[in-house]
Amino acid sequence: MTSRVAFVTGGTGGIGTAIVRELAGMGHKVATNYRNEEKAKAWQAELKKDGIDVALVKGDVTSPEDSARMIKEVEDKLGPVEILVNNAGITRDGTFHRMKTDQWTDVIDTNLNSVFNVTRPVIEGMRERKWGRIIQISSVNGLKGQYGQANYAAAKAGMHGFTISLARENARNGVTVNTISPGYIATDMVMAVPEEVRAKIVADIPTGRLGTPEEIAHGVSFLADERSGWITGSNLDINGGHHMGW
Ligand code: NDP
Repeated sequence: MTSRVAFVTGGTGGIGTAIVRELAGMGHKVATNYRNEEKAKAWQAELKKDGIDVALVKGDVTSPEDSARMIKEVEDKLGPVEILVNNAGITRDGTFHRMKTDQWTDVIDTNLNSVFNVTRPVIEGMRERKWGRIIQISSVNGLKGQYGQANYAAAKAGMHGFTISLARENARNGVTVNTISPGYIATDMVMAVPEEVRAKIVADIPTGRLGTPEEIAHGVSFLADERSGWITGSNLDINGGHHMGW
């Protein structure tokens, strides 16, 4: 197996932690960003107990300057970024007729503009080296829409347009670009949803349960694999059958 350098945004979160563990477990050198130093150091120490070393860089993915600096720091520490997982994301739910401007801009900045900010500083190097894997963590709700999530669904749908355009531009340079659309995963983001609403969500999932972060991480390792070089411009649905079709 070739050991690669991977940068996972939002790697300290629920799904991000599983992605970091999975990629490190495959023998890759992994880095992620943080904003709160104390929290990040405690998280890093937990992974260290399992023999996983993760490089940490401080920064906010909504800032182009932070993003470019973070990539530079990762590359100085570990070498050129070869696998990029755009995973950082937030929700600020509310029906659109009551939505405040900052609910809209915070969600678009964090879920979508961040993808520009972080991918832009790595793409030229990947093209030159003729190898790269770029994976966006979108959402089932970017495909089917969701009540109270016009902002989030717009951002997550935007990731698909980005993915298929970038896939076309970079296919001949050995860079694949794909999206994963998770369904509802048992992380803090979903556990924060009121229990009765969650019960309704689960009732709508054919497998009858929420997904696990590890099930999303498995999709990332599949798309990052050396053997996945002919998979580009794809969306991988991992949602327990919650949303099927095209
Ligand atoms: P978490 O809230 O557990 O983790 C989000 C991560 O993103 C955290 O590490 C957080 O860092 C980081 N982050 C948020 N904003 C920024 C920012 N501005 N700059 C840098 N880092 C930031 O979420 P999940 O693990 O549940 O979600 C991960 C991804 O999966 C998201 O994109 C989400 O939209 C998507 N998703 C999740 C689903 C679910 O059911 N959980 C379903 C479908 C998609 P910090 O700790 O500093 O806030």
